[in-house]
Amino acid sequence: MLKLYNTLAKKKEIFRPLKDKKVGLYTCGPTVYSYAHLGNLKTYIFEDILKRTLLFNGFQVKHVMNITDVGHLTSNADTGEDKIEKEAKKEKKSAWKIANFYTQAFFKDIQKLNILKPDIIAKATDYIDEDISLIKELEKKGFTYRTSDGIYFDTSKLKDYGKLTGMNFQKLSQTLKAGSRIEISPEKKNITDFSLWKFSPKNVKRQMEWSSPWGVGFPGWHIECAVINLKFLGNAFKGKKFLPKKATTIDIHCGGIDHISIHHTNEIAQVEAVTNKKFINFWLHGEFLKLPEKRMGKSEDNAILLSNLEKTNYSPLAFRYLVLNSHYRTPLEFSLEALKASQESLNNLYNFVYDCLWFSKKQKTRKNQTFKITKYQKKFQEAVNEDLNTPRALAVIWKLIKMYYDSTNINSQTVYKLALEFDKIFGLQLDKIKLISLPLNIKKLISQRDKARQNKQWIKADRIRKKIEKAGFKVEDTILGPKVIKKI
Ligand code: AMP
Ligand code: ZN
Repeated sequence: MLKLYNTLAKKKEIFRPLKDKKVGLYTCGPTVYSYAHLGNLKTYIFEDILKRTLLFNGFQVKHVMNITDVGHLTSNADTGEDKIEKEAKKEKKSAWKIANFYTQAFFKDIQKLNILKPDIIAKATDYIDEDISLIKELEKKGFTYRTSDGIYFDTSKLKDYGKLTGMNFQKLSQTLKAGSRIEISPEKKNITDFSLWKFSPKNVKRQMEWSSPWGVGFPGWHIECAVINLKFLGNAFKGKKFLPKKATTIDIHCGGIDHISIHHTNEIAQVEAVTNKKFINFWLHGEFLKLPEKRMGKSEDNAILLSNLEKTNYSPLAFRYLVLNSHYRTPLEFSLEALKASQESLNNLYNFVYDCLWFSKKQKTRKNQTFKITKYQKKFQEAVNEDLNTPRALAVIWKLIKMYYDSTNINSQTVYKLALEFDKIFGLQLDKIKLISLPLNIKKLISQRDKARQNKQWIKADRIRKKIEKAGFKVEDTILGPKVIKKI
């Protein structure tokens, strides 16, 4: 039984797919005007854990992610520049080139973090006609109005606007007003209203712009995600035409907590206004990665990138371990000490897997003790199914490791298989650990040394060990017996 914290219900709920064993999963993708920072990547790791947990529970997952390559403005109040056009000017490149470059960089990063690739990746610029079709429907139903700079959604027309935040319309408006650092356009009827279609500024030629029934311009950020959801998971499009009556509710939608009050609230507003149906069944949000003083952000000027870690010899998977070791709904404070500890834990995990492989070969002659595998499997599944409690799931594998080294004749092969089963969720690439292939002369020396040790010929055994080491290998006498690795 999988329980997930649903932001909409404000509590943990049992998750069941809406149809059979199939799950539609939508995760908001990157705005591709710069490299993803570790905060963004924390959110993508949390979403990856969710997806892996769904698969682990036997569900079939259709995972859709958008790429925001247009329409995300530097301010959430529909003012400011388009982030991608701004970067294009700065780097003196075309907006298309910028978007393409950072999209590729993003995929390289998620691959390094062993994040499973979505089944469908949809670039916002490929669905402009669909955006227009949905906006037309909103216009027909009376939810829109025009200002000098675009077509806006009138949030006062929707009776439960803002429900994802748990605040009513007045309270949400007050909160946004209090938190707003910039001037709100006087043409907006309500502070919570947002642009569906923005006109290209007069006297400025945008690189990315399209004609529409309302004028030349570009879509708002929130309409893009609504459309891509409805197109690939909500069955609401025939070709490029929006058919509101056909829309079906989607299982899960995720993102970082910053998206609750504006981006996701506005996605819900647009879709539910025209379909009169629940848009998303489960909303999941990940907490922030923080530096001691504040959140990590591109706009906060404190972004740390994955490449920065690699330059200091930390592996991307050490960062993945760090994220796994905290629950996705608690803020995670980033520090080099914490990363160092994660790298050490990861190395220890790899050593353990190596030992399992090494001693599975050696154990043929040993008496193999059985242990209750199901007890570990149960504890592990209970942990991940309790709202993705990965710190608890990690504790289960460390318990297994302790038990393995404490009782010297546990079946290594069984423990190895169990560790790999857990890694289907951890994604730490434990399966990449392979035994080194030893040259024949080393193999011979090892068995000679084993024999000498059995006969308690310690001086002889030591002499052979020195020979092995001279040939570039290292003998480690562990609690389970001697192990040979390559010298670094
Ligand atoms: P963006 O590329 O800005 O659209 O953000 C991509 C994802 O990263 C979104 O789901 C954000 O909510 C999330 N995000 C942004 N900053 C942080 C942070 N400091 N910690 C965790 N997630 C973040
Ligand atoms: Zn989105």
